[in-house]
Amino acid sequence: EEVVNRIAAGEVVQRPANALKELIENSIDAKANNIQITVKNGGLKLLQIQDNGTGIRKEDFPILCERFTTSKLKEFEDLSSISTYGFRGEALASISHIAHLTITSKTKKDVCAHQARFVDGVMQGATKAVAGNQGTIITVEDLFYNMNVRRNALRSVADEYARISDVVSKYAVHNAGIGFALKKSGGNNDIRTPPKASHIDNIRVIYGNTIARELTEFSWEDPTFKFKSHGFITNVNYSTKKFVFLLFINHRLVECTNLKKCIDQVYTTYLPKNMHPFVYLSLELDPITVDVNVHPTKHEVHFLNEEQIIESVCGGLEKKLLGS
Ligand code: ADP
Ligand code: MG
Repeated sequence: EEVVNRIAAGEVVQRPANALKELIENSIDAKANNIQITVKNGGLKLLQIQDNGTGIRKEDFPILCERFTTSKLKEFEDLSSISTYGFRGEALASISHIAHLTITSKTKKDVCAHQARFVDGVMQGATKAVAGNQGTIITVEDLFYNMNVRRNALRSVADEYARISDVVSKYAVHNAGIGFALKKSGGNNDIRTPPKASHIDNIRVIYGNTIARELTEFSWEDPTFKFKSHGFITNVNYSTKKFVFLLFINHRLVECTNLKKCIDQVYTTYLPKNMHPFVYLSLELDPITVDVNVHPTKHEVHFLNEEQIIESVCGGLEKKLLGS
């Protein structure tokens, strides 16, 4: 039973960056506008995320790590209007099976913060009162401590940190109303964005001025397939060896290889051989047509009329580049 849970949890959380993505989305759901992340050993020793969101009520602590338990059920009932992220109460539960998990939280009404440790989905003892600010601190220690094979399969601490940094960078650009910070434990911030900034300012801070000064705003609406897209893309004067692509669909960071390939293709006409653009794109599709709550083991997102929508977006990009 326990082994089965652990294996299932290891499927959900394949590496530190996956866990972090879910934790960031929880903080966004909790309406935080400040999210600070601290990492030790590429997230394997420590992955901590502190937010200033609504916090968790003391009485909700005991069920936090029960599988499929979510405070967001109201939204999930109406599958056609999913507006929150996450995959239905699996993130914290999964993490508790494969790491040492401590949750500290304070709501506006609380006089002090509450803290508890969780093991295999179960809260250990009662919550204890500790000092703290409004918001939530999720502390994940010794990820995969009970999964040698998984731990050994990860490439290197540097590689895991790079993946974490990539996830934080992308969320920071997309969520211009939220300040993000990322640091290694005991170190200085490697990423720091202010709580209120423009997308371009965030791109400048994170990806550098060389990219930021070549950006043009891209907006495209398609009345036939009823979607909107908005973002910032480099123009024909900029190119890089590695295609940097930030894609959000309904505000969830996703991967879509077909769209990526098509966009890269549009640029090949304009850029030197084997060179690529920087593209940050946010797509808003009708929620009925897209499973934004796609299970984290499925990295690729799929949606209705995928081919036509990709064609439409790329057509828009082409127009934009021709005019630039
Ligand atoms: P889900 O996000 O699908 O509800 P999770 O396992 O990610 O499932 O989280 C379980 C519950 O814990 C959430 O529904 C929410 O009530 C609470 N929670 C988790 N993280 C936070 C946070 N940072 N701030 C406030 N509440 C949180
Ligand atoms: Mg969640």
